Amino acid sequence: MAVRSLWTATAPTLQAAALSGSINVDVAIIGGGYTGLACALKLANNGTKVALLEAQHIGFGGSGRNVGLVNPGLWMEPDDINKRLGDDYGNRLYQALSQAPAKVFGLIDEHQISCNATPKGTLQLGRGNSGLAELDRRFNQLCQRQAPVERLDAQQTAGYLGSEHYQGAILDHRAGTIQPLSYAIGLAQAAQTSGCQVFEQSPVCNLVQLPHGWQLSTAHGQVTAAKVVLATNGYSSDLVGDLISTYIPIHFFQFATTPLSATQRQQILPGLQGCWDTGLVMTSIRLDVQGRLILGSIGQIRDGQQSRFLANWAQSMLAKLFPQLGKQTFEYCWSGKIAYSHDNLPHLHELQPGLLTTMGYSGRGIGPGTVMGEAMADHLLGQAIKDLPLPLTSPTSISWRRLKEAYYETGADIYHLGQRLL
Ligand SMILES: Cc1cc2nc3c(=O)[nH]c(=O)nc-3n(C[C@H](O)[C@H](O)[C@H](O)COP(=O)(O)OP(=O)(O)OC[C@H]3O[C@@H](n4cnc5c(N)ncnc54)[C@H](O)[C@@H]3O)c2cc1C
Repeated sequence: MAVRSLWTATAPTLQAAALSGSINVDVAIIGGGYTGLACALKLANNGTKVALLEAQHIGFGGSGRNVGLVNPGLWMEPDDINKRLGDDYGNRLYQALSQAPAKVFGLIDEHQISCNATPKGTLQLGRGNSGLAELDRRFNQLCQRQAPVERLDAQQTAGYLGSEHYQGAILDHRAGTIQPLSYAIGLAQAAQTSGCQVFEQSPVCNLVQLPHGWQLSTAHGQVTAAKVVLATNGYSSDLVGDLISTYIPIHFFQFATTPLSATQRQQILPGLQGCWDTGLVMTSIRLDVQGRLILGSIGQIRDGQQSRFLANWAQSMLAKLFPQLGKQTFEYCWSGKIAYSHDNLPHLHELQPGLLTTMGYSGRGIGPGTVMGEAMADHLLGQAIKDLPLPLTSPTSISWRRLKEAYYETGADIYHLGQRLL
């Protein structure tokens, strides 16, 4: 089965040329995903002269490939965030990321971004004793923080999902879904409208510190800038130091069926919530605006053989979840790289004076990428760095990262095989 992304097939196009010649700006941003784009938009709206350079096309990285679950918080449970960061930063990060979906949906409204925004909540689905215990723990922590969440029992969960496969769920009313690539392209269009110069097909191949700023080079152009924001996350290269050693790239794939019938859509996710589960190897489930059922999990779609293996898993998973559907045809399949940091938290680094980055979103970057992109813009506009939602840390290299990557992805393949055989 050929690799074909549903999001690429259904997103609008952006008019953006490659950089050619020399320009001078206040801030240059490297990377056209949510982090870079949210930063660019905020800076441009505040009168900063800004240029954004993207190696391929806007949303080429995780921002154009993800599931589109606009969730508050992180994968990590709120209490664990406080344990890692301490109460000051833990509470600050919780507040900022609790409001992240409202920030995303607010930007979509403000800039009239057409990205099928569906702010109808998301469901974290639990199965078995450990899955349900995890839901209870998270639910209690969220209730202590006055989050608008509901703990659904097995029957209620079956009503929302249209499947009896799971025995409980947390419904989070702050959350929702989007067409993720359309959101990225909409942010880029809004940034252009505000005066940001956006360049595609412009990989930055050299970054040199000058006495009063930076010089960035691409194959056909140069940018001088007082400050630089590096927003390359899981798609980083060796442009700056050993940044790629600070995260483990784990692939996540998705398969999308042809659109379900109107009757099937009345049974399966009738409320249009996006879902993910507490499984050891996580599964995601959602519908797109046309009613295609999209199933995802850990793994990479590499070639015909591998995608056939994963398609067989997806087919058997659909049969378990929704036996009423029968065999489905998959119209699209694609995958992307998630950047897991050493502690599963995103990290803010000042790599050199005037060279900022946030990375390592560890699988939750729509809200956090938007929030941290804006936060870095706030800092460049004058806010003290100590007042941002994340503390400034030094990059931490992960030892044996290639081995760990292989371990997780092979482990996921074995898990998927086991699920099929069961
Ligand atoms: C399959 C998948 C599913 C996910 N599901 C969800 C989800 O449902 N919800 C959620 O919240 N998060 C999800 N995530 C995580 C989320 O997508 C990412 O955290 C987020 O998109 C990161 O945004 P970013 O802007 O930091 O980086 P990216 O979107 O990865 O952008 C980095 C960009 O930098 C560019 N670049 C790299 N090097 C250079 C260079 N030298 N010059 C110029 N440009 C360069 C790349 O081409 C790339 O476009 C998922 C991720 C994946 C991969």
